[in-house]
Amino acid sequence: MVLKRHSKTVIALSLILVVMVSFFSAQPHQSMANSTQDEVYRGQTPKYVFMFIGDGMSYAQVSSAEMYLGEKTKPGAVTPQQLNFTQFPVHGALMTQDSSSFIPDSASTATSLASGHKTLSGVINMDETKTKAYTPITEKLKKMGYKIGIVTSVPITHATPAAYYAKVANRNDAYEIGKQLAASGFDYFGGGDFDQKTGPKGTDTPIYDIVKNSGYTIANTKETIMALNSKSGKVVAIDPDNYETALDYEIDREADELSLADYVKKGIDVLDNKKGFFMMVEGGKIDWANHANDATASIYDTIAFGDSVQVALDFYKKHPKETLIIVTADHECGGMTIGYSLTGYSTHFDKLQPVTMSYQDFDKIITTYKNSNPATPKLEDLKNEIYQAYGLDIASLTSYEGELLANAFQKTMSNAKPSNEQEQVLYGSYNPLSVTLCHIVNNRAGISFTSYSHTGVPVPVYAFGTGSELFDGFYDNTKVYTKLAAITKVKK
Ligand SMILES: [Zn+2]
Repeated sequence: MVLKRHSKTVIALSLILVVMVSFFSAQPHQSMANSTQDEVYRGQTPKYVFMFIGDGMSYAQVSSAEMYLGEKTKPGAVTPQQLNFTQFPVHGALMTQDSSSFIPDSASTATSLASGHKTLSGVINMDETKTKAYTPITEKLKKMGYKIGIVTSVPITHATPAAYYAKVANRNDAYEIGKQLAASGFDYFGGGDFDQKTGPKGTDTPIYDIVKNSGYTIANTKETIMALNSKSGKVVAIDPDNYETALDYEIDREADELSLADYVKKGIDVLDNKKGFFMMVEGGKIDWANHANDATASIYDTIAFGDSVQVALDFYKKHPKETLIIVTADHECGGMTIGYSLTGYSTHFDKLQPVTMSYQDFDKIITTYKNSNPATPKLEDLKNEIYQAYGLDIASLTSYEGELLANAFQKTMSNAKPSNEQEQVLYGSYNPLSVTLCHIVNNRAGISFTSYSHTGVPVPVYAFGTGSELFDGFYDNTKVYTKLAAITKVKK
């Protein structure tokens, strides 16, 4: 009996083993089947599609915002407060490499998302030879009757928004991109301003004239923007408080200035119609904050990005069977991580709470100080400003922090460019004093950065609503286009 029972156990165990082996060996076939299924969608086509792109936003950017909020609400409880989009039922991840590098830029990655093709860094909707143009999904949807909206917190001619309406060999040709915006016939552009308003040399026809002559209304005061509605025709809403053609960092935004969410709300007012619409919304300043290694600015802009997603979620409640919301990113930026060599396993997100401004606003304080031509410049002179901006008492610095800050102050006052590898690592191309203040506060909180550029790690994709189930899995960023094309049944 004992033996018999034993042999039964062996048979049962062997069966389990066989099942397990066949299960695991079946996995590659299953995932390959899934990838071809991208082309097949038998569900209902959503009438309203929201495509949110957090520029430079990977897991650390999202998680640091959630941990910051959690720490603020329940200090010491170690409970992240999830943003709305990380609670979406469908979650996938994207590989972001382009034809140039495992570390891509926004032009090539936005091309992959918008048109489904890989290309070189710096190229928008053209192939690697820069001769063949690709058609973004927006053009195809427009032909099907959808109205099209493009919203961003950075210049409207910047790479990510441009990939949804322009085709250029060089992302820096902002004037040409602006002209293609005017020729697009798309219905709503909102957020940042045009770059190169009078051409690369400043001698061309003002871009506003070209845009107006193409039938667009330019709204660039809060009153005219707030008055826009579905009868306004084709519009370009330009942020009246823009600083160097972009919206202010969320941390610097005054309460009466329009937010990214306001531009999404207004977009719905303008685009809402019986045939539906597609709206791309870029949280572009998440990327800029991470280039500058400013963790607090990144956190504020990621939260503001979540607020703009909330506008789509509120719209969804009124059209639950006809709306698809996708939230993703183009690439990571800054190599941000949660963890730092001197803080080990602990984090101190409370250290970020006293921060009141971005590095950009602190740069203005530094410029004012320099312009006052102090006889013997001393870090001490900026003691109060540093405390007010970063909650940092310079008397409390460790000797290591003090040395870093003293060197950075000296470098800032000397106006010299970084002259060696060590300075490039410490300051990148940023103001040595403000970037070092950011590093000290980040590190005290347990956050660190590895680069002033993008990095090659994957990015998340979250989806909700009609057709969202296709976005599950780990796949190439070009698949975002393929899946959306299948769901909306556009001609490939
Ligand atoms: Zn970037």
